[in-house]
Parts: sequence; C-alpha cells; structure tokens
Amino acid sequence: MKQCISIFWFRQDLRLTDNPGLLEASRLGKVLPIYILDDLAPSSFKSGSASKIYLHYSLERLNETLRDHLNIYIGTPEKIILQLIQQYNVEHLFWNHCYEPWTVLCDEAIEKILRDLKINYTIFNGSYLWVPKDINKEDGGYYKVFSAYKKKVCSLEPRSPLPKPEHLILMRDHENNTRLADLKLTSNVSWRDKIEKYWDFGEESAMNKLNNFLRNGLPGYKKERDYPGRKNTSHLSVNLHFGEISPYQIWHSVKAIDPLKVCSADKEHFLSEVIWREFSCYLLTHFKKLPFDNFQTKFNAFPWKDNTRFLEAWRSGTTGYPVVDAGMRQLWQTGYMHNRVRMIVASFLVKNLMIHWHHGRDWFWECLVDGDLANNSASWQWVAGCGADAAPYFRIFNPILQGEKFDPDGEYTKKFVPELEHLPNTYVFSPWKAPEAVLKDAGITLGQSYPLPIVDMEHSRNTALESYRRLPSME
Ligand code: FAD
Repeated sequence: MKQCISIFWFRQDLRLTDNPGLLEASRLGKVLPIYILDDLAPSSFKSGSASKIYLHYSLERLNETLRDHLNIYIGTPEKIILQLIQQYNVEHLFWNHCYEPWTVLCDEAIEKILRDLKINYTIFNGSYLWVPKDINKEDGGYYKVFSAYKKKVCSLEPRSPLPKPEHLILMRDHENNTRLADLKLTSNVSWRDKIEKYWDFGEESAMNKLNNFLRNGLPGYKKERDYPGRKNTSHLSVNLHFGEISPYQIWHSVKAIDPLKVCSADKEHFLSEVIWREFSCYLLTHFKKLPFDNFQTKFNAFPWKDNTRFLEAWRSGTTGYPVVDAGMRQLWQTGYMHNRVRMIVASFLVKNLMIHWHHGRDWFWECLVDGDLANNSASWQWVAGCGADAAPYFRIFNPILQGEKFDPDGEYTKKFVPELEHLPNTYVFSPWKAPEAVLKDAGITLGQSYPLPIVDMEHSRNTALESYRRLPSME
C-alpha cells in the first residue's frame, strides 16, 4: 500500500536544529529526508576537491543524527522528486532556499511541476538572516553599498532560532540503493587525508566550535581578527556554508552574551562580518553574473596578463614573498586561509602579478572547504576593485608591511614556510634584504631553499596603477 508522507530535501542546511523546513515537515507526520547530488552547476563551479570531502563527512554526520535514514540520490532534482512523488503518496514537499543562480532556476522548475500536480510545497529561508529579495531601497532598486545595506537590515531583527523537531518519524525509500560512498566525494585521497586531519564535521561540532569561539575568540575579536597567528576568528565559514549551523543561532548566541563579559565593539564587529556574508548573497541574487562578470564594467578593458609561471608560483606558495607563500600553503595544507591573508594573496595575484581574478577564484574554489559561490565571487571582486563597494583599485596590499604588522613574531609565516624558521624576525618578510651571513646562519640559500621574489614590489605596483589609470572610463 502507498504511504502518506512529506519529503524534506536537505541541501545547504545539514542540521536538525533551527531548520525551518524540517521542523514544519516533522509537524505533519512522516518525513522522507532526501539529499540529491545534482549536476546543475556549470563546469567551473562543480564542487572543489576540499569542499567535496567536507560534504562527504558532513552528510555522514547528518545520516547518523537521522539514525541512518538519509536517502541519497544522484541526478537531476526535478526527475528524482517527480519519481518520488509518483512512487509514494507524497502530500507535502519542504525545503530551504539556496541562492546559486542555477539552483534558483531548478527550484522554479520544481515549483511549476508541483503546482501542476497540485502537490503542496513550502520553501523556507533557513540559511540567511534576511531574504535577499525582501531588502529593497526606497526607490525600488537594490543596495550596492555595504554600509547602507547594513543599516537597513539591522533595523529588522532576525527571528529566534527554532528548536530541533521533537518527534521526527523518519522514512526510508527502500527502492533506492544509493549509498553515501556512491557519491564518490572522497576519491581524492590526498585531500581526504588533509581534511580529515584538520576538520570536525556535523552540527554538534559546529555548535561546540561556536561556543568555544564565544568564550575564547570573541573577546578582542575587533582587533585580533586581523592577526593570522592568533585564535580570534571563528572558522565557522564552512559550517555556515553547509548549514551545519544557522546564522540565526550565531546571531542570537552573540546577542545573548553578558556585556560585562564581551564588549559590544567585539560583538558588533563579528556580527558585521556575518552581515558581509548576507551582503554577498544579496549581491549574487541581484547580479547573477557576479561569479563571472566584473560588477564594474569599466574593468572589462583591464590588460590582464597571461603568465603561467607566475600563476603556478602563486598557487604553490613559491612567490618569494613569505606571507603570500604562507597563505597559499595554509590553503593547500588545510583547505582554509585566514581572511587577512586571503586579502593579501588576492591583491598580490590581481595587482602585483596582474593575473585575472577568475584564476584566483578558481584556485580558491578548488582548495577551500568553505568555497561559497556568493562569498568567493564577491570577495574576489572586492579585492580586484571591480566589485560592488569594492576596495579602491589603488589600495594595493604590500605583503612585506602586512606581514610585519599582522604577523609581528612571524609565527604564522614560519609555521607554513618552515624554510624561514631560523631567520631573525627583521628579515622574515623580506629575506632578500638579509645579509649573506644571516642567511647562511639561518640555513637559507635564496633561489634554492627559498625562492627569490618573482616580481619587484615597487615596479609591479606602479605597472598595475598605470594600467588602472589607462582604463577608458578612468581618463
Ligand atoms: P570570522 O572572522 O569568524 O567571521 C564570521 C563569519 O562571517 C565567517 O564564518 C563568514 O561566514 C562571514 N565572513 C567573514 N568575513 C567575510 C567576508 N569578508 N565576506 C563574507 N563573509 C564573511 N568566505 C567564505 O565563506 N567562502 C569563500 O569562498 C570565501 N572566499 C573568499 C575569497 C577572498 C579573496 C577573500 C578575501 C575572502 C573570502 N571569504 C570567503 C571571506 C572570508 O575570508 C571568510 O569568510 C573568513 O575568512 C572565514 O573565516 P572565519 O569563519 O574564521 O571568519
């Protein structure tokens, strides 16, 4: 006999607590929880190696919390959902919004099918504090400046987090034989070993991470967040991306902290970063070409250079600029890079090497566990100067000064560039300036044990600025 059930479709909300779609589904009776590995993204945005491994373990944890009831499929969501509807007496479908342009199109197609079949469905907003389409300027347009966007959204207090479903009556699709291993997310063994070593997965570990951060990282966040060697950032970006934790849980946990324990400047600054995440998604919703096209079209005429040797040096962390190399090696070894260093390495690629931000976007996409379409695209455009409310093009990070300022003991840089371990701090960010005897004592032969700089800082900076000045609309 056919069963009466509702489907909950997990996507970037791999959690039970504060999951509005799942909670609502659980209230109606039996739930068939599904996850679909789809093929919707264009080739440059298929999941990167690090992200795939993380997804595997996150799904594994989710399946454990669902007592081995997660039904996994591979294919086109429309077809799979239609098949399940025909197979079972499905009364309702529930899911939470995602905002990748191809996912939005897929949702619209599914909605049409469901309407035609007269199947009830409800889509919730679970991954962002504010629905991008709901935030408009008075003139009906959308915000392009972060501060104005922030002012607007901060006048709209986000709802409180929702509880975990009390009674979750879970169903299995017994006609489906696909297992997590069939998704082949962990086939890249070298990445698998790295991600397993550095990361914990699942919603319980995300909540522990948040609580630990609130106790130990948030006090002092405003200042210390810029120092890559210190432990004052949350590392929650990956949990937010996969929805192991919701921004509502984060927002209200921060707001609830006793002001005597953490000063409001630290709390507000942290929440402001969370709002940057909202702003990226907002921009992507309103400018769907954000991952591909310059937001400011005047940059279309920029004379990017095609230099494979430079690109390879950047990717492999062998540019001869220690803080750049440390960042790129941190990325390669752990699937993560500190935000300040992301800005430094990105500026170095697009300005000193004059290589198109698409190449940086792609390498980050391949290596980041937190690779996120909205954040990655908006951030690369921000650093390149071509984004909405971007850093002005002439703001070129100097990796020597940035290193000296934000890694004053060289702790972070030496950790990822161990060749420089014995170099005195004065020379850690510019080893080529060290006298021969100092290099010898530190066991360094420039050009052999550690590279010479691949470009001259002053010259490359001036060339980039000159190219910028020559852009047609800048005359
Ligand atoms: P915290 O300092 O603890 O911040 C808390 C949360 O706020 C983060 O988890 C993140 O969700 C959000 N956040 C923080 N900074 C930003 C920011 N600048 N823009 C948007 N959201 C932010 N972040 C991603 O999640 N995915 C990406 O693919 C990504 N690519 C980036 C590429 C470049 C070139 C740059 C400069 C930044 C990129 N970022 C990306 C933004 C930022 O670097 C990371 O979100 C942050 O470093 C994650 O560390 P955290 O969780 O410890 O941050």
